[in-house]
Amino acid sequence: MDTFAHGAIGMLTASRSGLPGLRKGAAVRRPPLQDWTLWAALAFGTLPDLVSFGVYLVQRVFSGNFSPGKPALSEIPSYVFTAYDVSHSLVVAAAAGILIGIFARSCLLPYLAWPLHIFCDIPTHSADFFATPVFWPISEWHFDGWAFSEHPLLIMGYWGGIVLLFAWRMLLPPIRERIRPKQENNHV
Ligand SMILES: [Zn+2]
Repeated sequence: MDTFAHGAIGMLTASRSGLPGLRKGAAVRRPPLQDWTLWAALAFGTLPDLVSFGVYLVQRVFSGNFSPGKPALSEIPSYVFTAYDVSHSLVVAAAAGILIGIFARSCLLPYLAWPLHIFCDIPTHSADFFATPVFWPISEWHFDGWAFSEHPLLIMGYWGGIVLLFAWRMLLPPIRERIRPKQENNHV
C-alpha cells in the first residue's frame, strides 16, 4: 500500500478525531487539526515506510541519483532491507506496543496505526519486491500478495474505501444531530 494511504488510514482509524471519535460518549475536545493524536497517528502510520524507503529517497535525492519509479532491487542498499524488516514486523511492533502501553499509555491509540500499516501491507506486496516480513526475526515467512504498484484497481479500491470512511466520519455527526431532536420529541 502506498505511504499516503497508510497515513490517511492511520489518521482515520487511530486518532480521537477519526472514527474512534464517533463512539458514543467520545469527547473530541479540540478542532481536528489541534488534536495531537491525529498527527501522532499520521506519524505511526507512515513510520514503517519513512524509516526505510523515506531515508533511501532522501539519500537518492541528495546524491543526485533520483529517478521516478521503482528502483531495481540490486541498487537498493542493505540498510533499507534491514530497516524494512524491523519496521514491518508485527513482532517488533508488538514489543513497541507493550513498551508504549507501560510508559506512554496516552500514545496507545495512535500507535495502533503502526500494526495496521503492517496488516495493510501483507496482501498488497508480492514476494518480488519487499514482501512484508510479518514475523521477523523469528521467521522469514511472508505472504506473496498482489503488488499495489502493478495493480491500479487495487489502489483505486483502497482509496475508494478511505474516501468512504472519511465521508462516514464527516457525515455521521450532523446526521445524528438531526435525528436526536426528533427522538427526544417522540419521548415527550
Ligand atoms: Zn509499508
